[in-house]
Amino acid sequence: MAKQNVNKKQNIAKQKAKQHTNQIKQQLKEEVATGLVDGVFVFTEALSVGDFATKIGKNAADILKFFFSQGTIMNQNMILSEEQMGELAIEFGFDFKKEEVLTKENILDQLTQVEDKPEDLKERPPIVTIMGHVDHGKTTLLDSMRNADVAAGEAGGITQAIGAYQVTHSSGKKITFIDTPGHEAFTEMRSRGANATDIVILIVAADDGVMPQTEEAIDHAKMAGVPIVVFVNKIDKPGADPEKVKSELMRYNLVAEEFGGDIPFIEGSAKQKIGLDKLQETLLLIAEINEYKANPNKFASGVVLEAHLDKAKGPVASVLIQQGTLEIKDTVIAGGTFGSIKNMENEHNKKVLKAEPSKPVVIYGLNEVPNAGDKILVMNDEKMARQIAEAQAEKQKQAERQSKQIFSLDSIKKYIDEGELKNINIIVKADTQGSVEALKGSLSKIDIAGVKLSIIRASVGAITNSDITLAGAGSAIVYGFNVRPDASVRKKAEEDGVEIRLHNIIYKVIEELEAAAKGMLDPEVVEVILGQAEIRNLFRHTAIGVIGGFHVTDGLIPRNAKIRVLRDGVVVYTGEISSLKHLKDDIKEAKIDSEGGLTIKNFNDIKEGDIIEAYKEETKK
Ligand code: GDP
Repeated sequence: MAKQNVNKKQNIAKQKAKQHTNQIKQQLKEEVATGLVDGVFVFTEALSVGDFATKIGKNAADILKFFFSQGTIMNQNMILSEEQMGELAIEFGFDFKKEEVLTKENILDQLTQVEDKPEDLKERPPIVTIMGHVDHGKTTLLDSMRNADVAAGEAGGITQAIGAYQVTHSSGKKITFIDTPGHEAFTEMRSRGANATDIVILIVAADDGVMPQTEEAIDHAKMAGVPIVVFVNKIDKPGADPEKVKSELMRYNLVAEEFGGDIPFIEGSAKQKIGLDKLQETLLLIAEINEYKANPNKFASGVVLEAHLDKAKGPVASVLIQQGTLEIKDTVIAGGTFGSIKNMENEHNKKVLKAEPSKPVVIYGLNEVPNAGDKILVMNDEKMARQIAEAQAEKQKQAERQSKQIFSLDSIKKYIDEGELKNINIIVKADTQGSVEALKGSLSKIDIAGVKLSIIRASVGAITNSDITLAGAGSAIVYGFNVRPDASVRKKAEEDGVEIRLHNIIYKVIEELEAAAKGMLDPEVVEVILGQAEIRNLFRHTAIGVIGGFHVTDGLIPRNAKIRVLRDGVVVYTGEISSLKHLKDDIKEAKIDSEGGLTIKNFNDIKEGDIIEAYKEETKK
């Protein structure tokens, strides 16, 4: 009897999935006319500047000029958003209308936003992201919460990091925590339309107060427009001053309830597990007020949190279900990939057969590795899933090509000549607050051919992925002053087409920008980074001094190259290697993944964790 019921249920689910797929098949259009119809500009999806111009019978230059006049730099190939198309229609005197049709390109966006009938909606756990300055305790808080999970004991199994996990509060209610630390992941996901967070916990260490990344976190959370809960951490430490944190945060309009504001402040200690219950209760209260809901009884959709290729198991993706219920054997599209789900696991390494809204799961069976932030959607028709995935992959490739090389120092003059470049966006990262202020001061006085410099971020510390993400989004140039990007940041900058300029003398920065505006950049002495090595241990030798035991993490380290010593991305010394050895032998160079010992000329202050960066200088026209 029980078995029959199960079979019956499965059949109903299957039928539903089939219906959904058939409906989509009927709705899906091969091609849709976008263009002028009786003086109304009808569009079905975003177009490039060039294509838009053709459709309305204008020159691309007219459109670029319009954007220049608004301070936005565009080029012919850039894709216009719906909003921008609307603005243009008004500018050129047309009405405009968006035609809601489903295409292989827009299907993931459209179908993940379908509105459900209120009666179909059910309560779902809130999805929470923790943000804050480095070392303020994000990881510890996540771990403590995971360990305090009342359900974890029963579930057994080791917890695996799958990008998110769910804990059950003692009241029986669940909370989902996103476990991808880093503000950039948060913003990148949002910039791709995948809003995977309901509430942000802003964590601030009570012994340290508001720091640069705290500010950054506030910006990100405010931009997302989600409720903020402040967790004042480390109150167990001597020197902890929670009141100071409260008054500091007032400057950012985060006002505690006791001062008449509406931001919950919870004081506690992630390490000593103080205040965790109150924190969870607060999150659940916010969830109750905001009534986070989703329809679990429909085809599933969600977002990819993390993905990688496993040698034995093939592509593995952690996904967060946002709507519907994902079931094993469902065929899904995940960004530009697709596949039938062979196996599904939860954060406790346990096999699960289905996943409901707000549930994170690991899925196996995709044909390739999707990107974090990709949307996932059930499409139980393999042929169609494949076609849609291919269309999505093509769309992603196009977007990638178009986002590259939006803006660089070389091109400033061109932009000034071509149109009305009003604004050059700059991000400043420096080793000390003093340098940040000095640079801000000097840059704000610069006037190059009537162009204003806007500093969109200025802070102390290494150049990070988040700086590159912001620069990419704002067409900005990143200036590093006595700080360096590491290899992964440099790679991201290359991929995103973001220019990084590194200096250590302020007037050089100014000179360079003025020269760029006149199109008179000097033949540039560029640095070529040869490699990086990490200092993993230290040996003290009475005659030689401090020897750094290194591991080459990138490229190679030649014995006679120039080097700099980086500590947390800040240059602490620039000089030369004095000896480079593998075991007892002197070597000419150390290759990637090799190990050895080195000493630095006139510098004995090497520390564990330091990065030794080898470089050479070349003149480039
Ligand atoms: P994250 O960089 O924000 O992820 O910070 P971590 O969670 O790695 O914490 C940084 C350091 O602060 C670690 O050494 C933690 O053990 C310590 N820490 C975190 N929370 C507390 C706390 O509540 N009290 C104390 N005394 N130390 C803490």
